[in-house]
Amino acid sequence: MKKPYLAVSLLFFSSVGFAVNAQQHVHGQGELLVSQEGSMLHLQLVLPAADALGFEHEPETTEQLSSQNLLAERFTLNTNVIDVEGKCELVGVEHTLEAHDDHHKSDHEDAHEAHSGDHDEAHESEHALHKEHDEHEGHEEEKHQNIEVEYQFHCDDAVSGITVTLFESMPSLSAIQAQWITERGQGLSELSARQPTLRW
Ligand SMILES: [Zn+2]
Repeated sequence: MKKPYLAVSLLFFSSVGFAVNAQQHVHGQGELLVSQEGSMLHLQLVLPAADALGFEHEPETTEQLSSQNLLAERFTLNTNVIDVEGKCELVGVEHTLEAHDDHHKSDHEDAHEAHSGDHDEAHESEHALHKEHDEHEGHEEEKHQNIEVEYQFHCDDAVSGITVTLFESMPSLSAIQAQWITERGQGLSELSARQPTLRW
């Protein structure tokens, strides 16, 4: 019998005792929350944009826009992100990069670049960025961005492990602090390129 996602999320948040906004933003450090209830497996990954993308602002060049789109596609398809052991089907994906894709400014900039280069626009956005920094002096954290990805899997078998496969493509990501919670218990583990597998 399938349980609704909401039940899984509620169990997860109330049991683990912290929500997304409790996270820290440390470059090179990601977070992974794993919760399993019955046949549903919920994964929530938080990465500093600096490691995932190489920049922490709206894409300003076509190159940045295309890396962001590529990463968004990878997250959506779960291509080299997280391997789940067992017979599991990916039934739900959410990631914060989607919102950026819909940003009207991106289309606008693309159109401009195609016609007459992007020098003026680049300068303009550079100025806008500086201005913003001046106005928000003393609020360093506003310059940082996290990327969040959430996966819902429906599993026929009991799952007892996952492997994070994104370290290769994000060399500056040195570790992911992983927390897991299942009906059998909960635990913490640090994952890295050398130790990318979490077992419970
Ligand atoms: Zn940052």
